[in-house]
This record gives sequence, C-alpha cells and structure tokens, in this order.
Amino acid sequence: MSAVIATRGLVKRYGSLRAVDGIDLDVRAGDVYGFLGANGSGKTTTVRMLLGLVLPTSGGIEVLGARMPRAGRRVLPRVGALIEGPAHYGHLSGRENLALLDASGPGGSWRTRQRRIAEVLEQVGLGGVGRRPVKAYSLGMRQRLGLAGALLRRPELLVLDEPTNGLDPQGISEIRELLLELNRTGTTVFLSSHLLAEVEQLCTRVGVLDRGQLVLQEEMARLTAPTGATVVQTPTPDRVRSALDGRVTSVDGERVIVRGDDPAEVNRLLVGAGISVTGLALQRPTLEEVVLAAAGTSTDRVESSR
Ligand code: ATP
Repeated sequence: MSAVIATRGLVKRYGSLRAVDGIDLDVRAGDVYGFLGANGSGKTTTVRMLLGLVLPTSGGIEVLGARMPRAGRRVLPRVGALIEGPAHYGHLSGRENLALLDASGPGGSWRTRQRRIAEVLEQVGLGGVGRRPVKAYSLGMRQRLGLAGALLRRPELLVLDEPTNGLDPQGISEIRELLLELNRTGTTVFLSSHLLAEVEQLCTRVGVLDRGQLVLQEEMARLTAPTGATVVQTPTPDRVRSALDGRVTSVDGERVIVRGDDPAEVNRLLVGAGISVTGLALQRPTLEEVVLAAAGTSTDRVESSR
C-alpha cells in the first residue's frame, strides 16, 4: 500500500523544548488514521508541519508522494485541512465564507461552485443554516463549516486537528458517520484527537504521541486483537474456578478470565457442570489499555471519556 503521509525523523524544537521529537509517521491510502496524544504532546505542531504551516527543525515529510513543504503549491490543493479554531468572517453567511475560500480554487462556473457549496453544507449538516451569518453559529456549527471548507475540493486526503472539538454527542456521531462515508468512497483521513473513545470508534490505524515521541503506530485490528483468553460472566465465579481446573487466570467480581480462545468449548464445560453463565466473549484489550501500556503514566491526561 502506498504512503499518503510519511515522515522520517521529524523534529520541531522551540528553544530547548523538542515539541516533536523524531517521529516516523506512516499513513497509508484508505486509512482512517487516529493521531492520539495528551494536550501538549505535539499533535498540532505535527499537523502544522504536514501542511507546511510550521517549518521542521530537521527530518523529512512526504505528503501524497511529494516533499513538503517544497511541493506545497502542487500538493495542498489535493488536501482538505481543518486546523484548530477555523477562522471565518462573522458578518458573512456560511455560504459566503465558503465562496471566499473557493474563490482561490480551481475555477468552474459560478453556478457549479454554488452547487458544490450547497452540497458540502448539506454534507456537514448545515444545509438549513448556510445563509445565516456565522456570528450566530454555535462553536459546533463553526467546526462543521470548517469541515465543509476542507471538503470543497473533494480532497484525496483530509487532515483534521481535533475535528470534534466543541461538538455535542449528536454532532460527534454525525461527523463520525460523515468521515466514515468519505473514507468508504476513497478519502484517506488523518485526524488528531485526545479522545480515546473517538479514535477507537473511527480509526483503522493509530499513532500515539507522548511528549513529542511516537510511542505506538499500529493497525487498530491488531492492537485490539483477541488475547487468547475467554471472559466469562457468572454469578458463581468460585464454581467456575473449580470446574475449569487451573485454566482460570484471574477473577474480578463476576468476571472470570479463562485460558483458551474457544468460548463455545468453555460454555459447554460450564453448562455441563450446571454453572450459570450470564456472558461469554473472547478477551480483547481496549485501546485505552494498549495506549496506557505503550505511553506509561503521562497518557492519563488522554481522556477515555467513558
Ligand atoms: P493540544 O491538544 O493542547 O493542542 P498538542 O498535542 O497539539 O496539544 P502542541 O500544540 O503541538 O501540542 O504543542 C506541543 C508543545 O510545544 C507544547 O509544550 C507547546 O507549549 C509547545 N509549543 C507549541 N507551539 C509553540 C510555539 N510557537 N512556541 C513555543 N512553544 C510552542
């Protein structure tokens, strides 16, 4: 699979602080890549470097196969970006703001451009309010307008810094559906977030930044793959322990962990012994557990939001 974003030994220093400390990002075509890290871990600085808004101290960046920032003029029109606090003109409507953005775009007739603007407003759920002045928009609506701007040119790659910032749960789930739909139709998505739950529900690949360093980069499916154990829920954990003779590795209340990755077999043994089973599943680590193991104590600032 081809690299859509690749960095090699990317560093950004501010005085003595290494805000980004030698990271090798590897984002592939078709990924929904979650770039996870606590506040201050260097996510925004990285995103800004990818887009040519901040110059690296050292290291290399390729976006869509071309060197950044050198190839910016050629590459950036193919990239939709939403970075912290999108700036809009408050006295203009959402439509007018997008028309201004589009004015520097690829051209086309006025009518075609207006149609495209209406389309992206609809896509982000602002169809009904596109004509209202932006100063009357909530934070969440402004965030959606920023996303609409990022979508205008039908980008191959979306780079989004904390895209669900300021959105309520309903808005978060709408943006999630929209990003998944865009991804299904071929858009690669790179998004930064400090919300584990958001990344877990959305992303196919994860990078974890901890104090400027990439401590983990892996496919989500691999990170949360079954551990080889089975989780049994039962009101009588002691009876499970004696029935399964040596296979129980831990008991936590009514939750019993059993060695072996065949829940049906465990179920047969327990039901055969007349033990009541209220739940049965393969054990999988949560993203939270994986991230904590990789990043140690400092990611307790990464919010699990659960
Ligand atoms: P947040 O989620 O809060 O936006 P972040 O992970 O995006 O955090 P960055 O904004 O990239 O983190 O900041 C990383 C570190 O670099 C922080 O310690 C920050 O104070 C520092 N930093 C960022 N920009 C500058 C700057 N222009 N000058 C000096 N220090 C900076």
